[in-house]
Amino acid sequence: ETSEASEPIVVATEDLENDLQWNISMRARIDTAMEAGELHCVYQPKVNVLTGRMYGVEALVRWDDAERGPISPMTFIPQCEKAGRMEDLTRYVLQTACNAGRYFHANGQLITMSVNVSSILFADLKIARIVQDTLLASSFDARHLMLEVTETARISDFETAIEVLTQIRSLGVRISIDDFGMGSANFETFVRLPFDELKIDRLFVNRMVEDPKARAIVASLVRLGKDASISVVAEGVENEQELEVLRKLGGTNVQGYALSRPLSLGQAVRFGQMENEL
Ligand code: C2E
Ligand code: CA
Ligand code: CA
Ligand code: CA
Repeated sequence: ETSEASEPIVVATEDLENDLQWNISMRARIDTAMEAGELHCVYQPKVNVLTGRMYGVEALVRWDDAERGPISPMTFIPQCEKAGRMEDLTRYVLQTACNAGRYFHANGQLITMSVNVSSILFADLKIARIVQDTLLASSFDARHLMLEVTETARISDFETAIEVLTQIRSLGVRISIDDFGMGSANFETFVRLPFDELKIDRLFVNRMVEDPKARAIVASLVRLGKDASISVVAEGVENEQELEVLRKLGGTNVQGYALSRPLSLGQAVRFGQMENEL
């Protein structure tokens, strides 16, 4: 005997309960995954387009769920965020990546290790502490760590984000703006946030061969990088034509399947040892 008026309330309660249950089980699953070693990182080379030299790698997290098989970070990163587990996940990836970074260095490759950090974590000074603690625990040199800030369009409190980024940079860690050009806050991001590298989103990179407008955007970002002394990376470079355009623009750093897919740690170290012919 549900009255019309009570119906929406019942629905809302059910939703809330489902949400709560989902969050609890998701949280438990992520915790279990970390404990059971179902999470690991792969490393995608970042290469200088003119010399072919691998100067850095980006750590990308992978989740091989015991029951469901591999789950894409595109799926589980948002779930992790919703379940309030981004901090733990980031701590895990930072630790794994810094240890991997030491392994590269021990093998004579002085690469920069890049780690993705979701912009929601820059709403709180805690991330600066996590970064500092991880560097200490792994004794990895801060100057070889770079944080890629993803989804900058979602930063709502710029004052706090600036404070957090400034504190992290004072450790010697560099900051990269990921997926530049996507979302709405990017030029505001460019002028307001302190950073050292920008990554041109692959949307523009993949269109630039046939689309003069996309090419003009890439060219202007390369130019902007030079003028502002900011390192520029074109991401998602998939073929020789794209590499050729980027070489003609005077050279940038590049990342993408044309250079290498994300690799295991051992494979990435071997990739760095090869003389890469581009
Ligand atoms: P992203 O940071 O933009 O990373 C680049 C994504 O593009 C990676 O996908 C990579 O495997 C893929 N990729 C690289 N080269 C190419 C290419 O030439 N063509 C195409 N089509 N794709 C390419 P992945 O590993 O599935 O990661 C997806 C996104 O998930 C990342 O995008 C990043 O935003 C997020 N992510 C991954 N690992 C982490 C992490 O540890 N923490 C956080 N917060 N986010 C992460
Ligand atoms: Ca990234
Ligand atoms: Ca990106
Ligand atoms: Ca992306």
